[in-house]
Amino acid sequence: MSIAANLNAIKSKLPAAVELIAVSKTKPNNLIEEAYAAGQRHFGENKIQEMTTKWEALPKDIEWHMIGHVQTNKVKYMAPFVSLIHGVDREKLLLEINKQGQKHNRVIKCLLQVYIADETTKFGLLPEEVLPLLEKSLALKNIRVVGLMGMASFTDNEEQITAEFKILKELFHSAKAQFDQIKILSMGMSNDYELALAQESNMIRVGSKIFGSRN
Ligand SMILES: *Cc1c(COP(=O)(O)O)cnc(C)c1O
Repeated sequence: MSIAANLNAIKSKLPAAVELIAVSKTKPNNLIEEAYAAGQRHFGENKIQEMTTKWEALPKDIEWHMIGHVQTNKVKYMAPFVSLIHGVDREKLLLEINKQGQKHNRVIKCLLQVYIADETTKFGLLPEEVLPLLEKSLALKNIRVVGLMGMASFTDNEEQITAEFKILKELFHSAKAQFDQIKILSMGMSNDYELALAQESNMIRVGSKIFGSRN
């Protein structure tokens, strides 16, 4: 199947309010251009250097999503152009994004990443840390926390995945009830986005189902 056909197959299953992020990490520019030609504008990368190189080479109306773990000292490279940083998981990083946003006269949008998986390899805040950090972020004028992001465990146990997504959904509801700016719930990847949609995800991050498997 072509990239355009893959995109259409996924989009045909999405409610209108759900944003599809095409995760293009490790994939060359010509494949991103193919998706772009099919109308895709939101792309996700997990390495700042790779995202910056692609941003420089590709059309400027692409919205770049940083979906990986972010090192504080690398924020400056993406601050001029990044659309949404999904993986904010500590106050120090919030402060640095705010500082870089100020330098570039931008309000940089972010999501707080929440640890929901039953694995030690995934980053994120504990659920109880989310609302206090959100509260703190309100004082920072060049960053805006607009939602939550999480990754379920890498398992084919659908009940477990659903239970993990439910934790995030409930936290999303609490955050939304207290903070008007909370709009985005980023959860779901190639193998679990349908389960995520059932738990009210409104932003899915899909790579291999669009571009093919990565090495
Ligand atoms: C790689 C990645 C994805 C996409 O993974 P696929 O299984 O290829 O869809 C989504 N989210 C994050 C955070 C990733 O690192």
